[in-house]
Amino acid sequence: MGPGCEMVEELASALVASHAPLMVCTGAGVSLASGIPTFRGTDPGAVWTADVTTMGTNRFFQKNPVESWRWYLGRFDGLEEKLPNPAHRALVALESWKREGERLRNFMLVTQNIDGLHVAAGSRAVVEVHGSARHVRCVRPGCVNAAPEGMLPRDEVDLDAFRAAPDVGTLPRCPACSALVRPHVLWFDEYYGDHQSYQYAAVQVAAGQVGLLLFVGTSFSVGLTESLLRGARGRGIPVWTIDPSTDAAPLGVRRVNAAAEVALPALVELVQG
Ligand SMILES: [Zn+2]
Repeated sequence: MGPGCEMVEELASALVASHAPLMVCTGAGVSLASGIPTFRGTDPGAVWTADVTTMGTNRFFQKNPVESWRWYLGRFDGLEEKLPNPAHRALVALESWKREGERLRNFMLVTQNIDGLHVAAGSRAVVEVHGSARHVRCVRPGCVNAAPEGMLPRDEVDLDAFRAAPDVGTLPRCPACSALVRPHVLWFDEYYGDHQSYQYAAVQVAAGQVGLLLFVGTSFSVGLTESLLRGARGRGIPVWTIDPSTDAAPLGVRRVNAAAEVALPALVELVQG
């Protein structure tokens, strides 16, 4: 698989030798091969562009739900047609491998991606810490569809009427209480702790027990990666990243310099021996 090959072998050996829990934290690089542009940064077609810090906020939704939904659908409507790629499938296989025998339950996949592709691929212990574009939730606190177990699949609310004629009267509404629904994603003026289903507390607890932390396709630019990295350094556990970027990896992080859809299948093949 090219220049990253030796490092993949080293990472595989580290995984095989470790009987401690494994945490994998994925970012946009995992979904690139599914045709989803990165959500930040300067890539052509980046979904998070200049307008995001004003439009992708709860403040904007409160002020102008019609424009907020229009903006959101304009950016994310294509996501549901995207399919998992070999990187997603390799992580399903890695989870199965890690769950075998004495390694049982020692695996957590934390993703910053909102595309839902890890779940679609079949990953089980997956936390979508920034939410999922495939779901909406009711904005009325206390409604069953505002609770973590009441997330609505997006196709269960009527978005066609709004698409045809975006207006206050056609805004998508909660089937239980008729309040507005909103995308179930973490907006830029919100915190991980704002909604239980982001499971940020559970991630922190799990992070305190892992024996190896593996980042895949992330640019280390969000609060999540920072806090995981800080925790791992504090505990002195090995930290790896799979990323084709030419930027220097953060201090103390070992890097497999290859694309996720190349390195992860190679890694799984090696650990399965
Ligand atoms: Zn409701």
